Amino acid sequence: MHIYINLKVVIVSVTFMVMINTTFGNFSETQILQKIFGEFGNEYEYTENDIFRKKNPPQCPICARKMVHNGFNRYTKKGMGRIKIGKYICKPCNENLEEDRSVWEQLKTLFIDLLGDLYQMLRLNHVAYDVISRLMRLIFPQSKSTIFREFNRAMENTEIPPLENVLIVHYDEQFPKKGRTQKYRLTLLDANTKRPVADELFDKKDPETIKQFLVANLDTSKPIFIITDFYSSYPPVLKEVFGDNLIHQYCLFHLNKLVVNDFPRHTSIAQELLKYRLLNIFYNREKEIEMLRKLELEEFEIIQDENAYKSWIKIAKKVFYNYVHELELARRRNKENLEINSLEKAEEHFTELMDEIDSFDENIQYRLKMIKKHWMNVTAFHYFEGAPATNNAIENFYSTSLKTHRKKQFRTERGILYQMKLAAMKRAGMFEGIKPTLLELFGLFRPFAIS
Ligand SMILES: [Zn+2]
Repeated sequence: MHIYINLKVVIVSVTFMVMINTTFGNFSETQILQKIFGEFGNEYEYTENDIFRKKNPPQCPICARKMVHNGFNRYTKKGMGRIKIGKYICKPCNENLEEDRSVWEQLKTLFIDLLGDLYQMLRLNHVAYDVISRLMRLIFPQSKSTIFREFNRAMENTEIPPLENVLIVHYDEQFPKKGRTQKYRLTLLDANTKRPVADELFDKKDPETIKQFLVANLDTSKPIFIITDFYSSYPPVLKEVFGDNLIHQYCLFHLNKLVVNDFPRHTSIAQELLKYRLLNIFYNREKEIEMLRKLELEEFEIIQDENAYKSWIKIAKKVFYNYVHELELARRRNKENLEINSLEKAEEHFTELMDEIDSFDENIQYRLKMIKKHWMNVTAFHYFEGAPATNNAIENFYSTSLKTHRKKQFRTERGILYQMKLAAMKRAGMFEGIKPTLLELFGLFRPFAIS
């Protein structure tokens, strides 16, 4: 990023002191040359033969006599242009000096970095190297291997600004494949900024690895609110790392998935009603329940007649699922999420279910007991301003960086790491902001074009 600041120095500098010897050849380029060399003093000149040098040669560093002009060295940026940098000589000492060419190097760096930015943006969007190469044929032809190399260089040189005041974080894992080798991606995401606190690849994900990952990236001496999925291996690890500082929220979306999986695929309406009552503990599913209660009454009437029931349940379920789908579409239209119940309502719904627990199947009893045991972990979010109840933020983050279902495996671990870093750069707003355009940079090279 520092490169852009340099550009400003080069362009904005208004000490138009360097002497430009105007010729027909460079007349229209004078302004650009003034911009580029503006920061050099009036002891410099850009000759009519396009040599950049001091008007008066410097002193010889050996004998202190004044040196003389002695031609130039040529520096070329392939496809962009060429500059002639003046040379000086002290003949008695045979001492040679060359003029400072940092401006030329800066100009090249600006251009190369801008191409790097372009490659990063394209790779962020999963554009393949050979497609980038074909695209570049229309702008500034670059081979696939050059693009690959320049992209890697840009990734290595990019530093993401650190986060501050982390308090509420998401933790999750993903299992990308490097060829046939299983890799483990451990991620901590800041809940406020949605930016990764840490996002790293490991060869395993045993408790010791997770522990070291947490200790290395979080301040274990301060209170922390962590949202995770329901895996039983997490609580002991988190407890060990954070002790009393830990506030552990289990993802309610993950809980809902577990509840749905507690029921068979082909449910009766009565089972469906129980499923929705469980879902209704934490999310408002009153509308679905209202409809299911009506259908349940019908089901009760018809269930003894096996043949009639078979065709009835098919239709009833279809009607219900259409209704659920409609509600979902309406929410999406209004850009609403499923409403989360207040703590009082959640307690009320849960208590009602617990009162009937003996009448439920064993796995449903197990689920309710599990919720009871971890009640603090499923309701912690109610006590903290801005604390999320789900790990959806990290799921979204994963889906914008490495999609687990992406068929194509990454050939290298570096490929995976760079995709993770690009996602972090995006969340840090590093693809936003004003940057020079390629055309502006091409313009700066115009005086040096090889005709
Ligand atoms: Zn000398």
